[in-house]
Amino acid sequence: MSDTSDLTPNQPDVGLRKLPRVIAVANQKGGVGKTTTSINTAAALAQLGLRVLLIDVDPQANATSGLGIDVRSLESTILDVLIDDAPISDCICSTEIDGLQVAPSNLRLADAEMTMYSMLARETRLKNAVDAVLQDFDYIIIDCPPSLGLLTLNALCAAREVLIPIQCEYFALEGVGQLLENVLRIRRSGLNPTLEVSSIVCVMYDARTNLADEVVGEIRQHFGETVIKTVVPRNIKLSEAPKYGMPIITYDPMSRGAIAYTDVAQEVHNGSQSTAGERAQFTYSWRNG
Ligand code: ADP
Ligand code: MG
Repeated sequence: MSDTSDLTPNQPDVGLRKLPRVIAVANQKGGVGKTTTSINTAAALAQLGLRVLLIDVDPQANATSGLGIDVRSLESTILDVLIDDAPISDCICSTEIDGLQVAPSNLRLADAEMTMYSMLARETRLKNAVDAVLQDFDYIIIDCPPSLGLLTLNALCAAREVLIPIQCEYFALEGVGQLLENVLRIRRSGLNPTLEVSSIVCVMYDARTNLADEVVGEIRQHFGETVIKTVVPRNIKLSEAPKYGMPIITYDPMSRGAIAYTDVAQEVHNGSQSTAGERAQFTYSWRNG
């Protein structure tokens, strides 16, 4: 992994984060749990009584379908927002979960990324859309595609924070250095000067292997207090739930996956100003790059 000491968390007294919080869930590797973390953290935050918008900017549209929305039946999606300047409110759909809404994706978003390259202010198209609805939500969670292309760049410009899910497997940190470097680059470029990596979540933990513990230890050593204390276990229910279009808290609320993501959401939310005093561990920021 490349040297990311510049991003080592420090300064434990930066202060709690203000709502609304806009969090991009990113990791340019595919299949590492971005969508599972986006859907289930968003749903658990909504269950805490918060107003949550999940924005799907992955052309695979797994977050959209995973919340029970039929991708083919949609009249308006995030594609119209990014390409045609449609207001994001036009495409927002409600879900079965009270307080959780989705800005759905579209399979044609992959072509849109190419179109966007030639557009004016191409990096900040999502940011402009998000800024217009900020006051309607407590949390806006953005599920990123598995690349560092223009769609992820738009997410990182719209967000204030980045949440990185990391798989408890060999080569878990592979590519994370590149993502962190991109965060620094975006900050330095002035596109998003206060962007910070606020949470790292260890996912797909398999308690039967020593390897999983070693990886979690390595992640904690590297990223310190930025790592969420709750570790998400490998849990078959988490992989079944999207087939039924449900987040884990409704598909199987007593499953280990449901309990873990409820705890993850609580920890994330504990870093908010609205819960000041409850707990202040998750106030670490990243050194200015
Ligand atoms: P990404 O969005 O990074 O590509 P996903 O969230 O889609 O990754 O996860 C990849 C696959 O792994 C999916 O089939 C998902 O259901 C499954 N999965 C994710 N997290 C877990 C977990 N904790 N336990 C079991 N399966 C999981
Ligand atoms: Mg995904």
